[in-house]
Amino acid sequence: LDTPGIREVGLIDADEGVSVVFDDAEQLVQGCRFNDCGHANEPGCAVRAALQSGALDHARWAHFQKLEPELAAVEEKAGWLAKDAERRRLAALQKAYRATKRNDRGAR
Ligand SMILES: [Zn+2]
Repeated sequence: LDTPGIREVGLIDADEGVSVVFDDAEQLVQGCRFNDCGHANEPGCAVRAALQSGALDHARWAHFQKLEPELAAVEEKAGWLAKDAERRRLAALQKAYRATKRNDRGAR
């Protein structure tokens, strides 16, 4: 049985769950000077500064880095689902619009 609705909700819930758990790490990543910061030798890296000061636990950061590709995949999938829903909505609108036009022509 195909239940895309339930899978959709499950994906988004999982994403939010991980985001809440690693909220501090995610906020630190956003504090880096560069968007594509590799957190290695880049200047202005907020993650490295937090690791050095002890504000961010090394084990916690390692765990977050391991999860990050999975998080990105979930986000990509959620975005694709949203686009798919939008496309279906537009197709339905188009169909309704065409039906209206057909009715207009019939009335004349
Ligand atoms: Zn960084």
